[in-house]
Amino acid sequence: MTSQEKTTIIVATSNPNKAREFASLLPGVNVLPMPEGIVLPEETGTTFEENARLKARSVRDQISEWPNGKVWVMADDSGIEVEAFGGAPGIYSARYAGEDATDADNVARMLAELEGRDDRGARFVCVLVCVSAAEEELVAHGYFEGTIAGAPRGRTGFGYDPIFIPLDKKLTVAEISADEKNRISHRARAAHNLLAKLRGG
Ligand code: IMP
Repeated sequence: MTSQEKTTIIVATSNPNKAREFASLLPGVNVLPMPEGIVLPEETGTTFEENARLKARSVRDQISEWPNGKVWVMADDSGIEVEAFGGAPGIYSARYAGEDATDADNVARMLAELEGRDDRGARFVCVLVCVSAAEEELVAHGYFEGTIAGAPRGRTGFGYDPIFIPLDKKLTVAEISADEKNRISHRARAAHNLLAKLRGG
């Protein structure tokens, strides 16, 4: 397959690590960072899907020069949903402990809120929305189920990884390798589902 025939995905993120991560999760796809000068919109949606769609459409509408071939603009939104909190913090995961909260602040608040509770089920969610210049849209979801540990453990990863124990595992996500996380995470599963949709038409 030549690069001309490959599907291209422009990732709507200002984080080069995220674009690189998606490149490894989407084999066979020509994954590009978004062009310089593009401004991402505020995430004002009420669901992961709405936020991802807002970002994908906004970036699409700012692109002036499109690569050849089939091209999509893809945005993601992700977070953690805790059963005992009815799915919170969800889309507010990054600012759970306040606007300028650090990962450590968010982890500390979650542990405090779950103090003494046995119902510690949770899941990471990732939603990917792809839009094309011709107004087509693809949506893919990925879930990563587990429980919230009693205290943080491990040093890899970010966010809630030190307190998230995947279902049927003993270690937290911050205690496993990045490669292993990339095989089982919500982002990996969403990317897998997206690949199936891209191949299906
Ligand atoms: P966003 O998708 O960059 O908006 O991420 C939202 C927030 O969800 C992050 O700041 C983290 O707090 C949390 N989050 C999303 N994915 C992960 C993950 O893989 N590990 C740990 N925390 C995550």
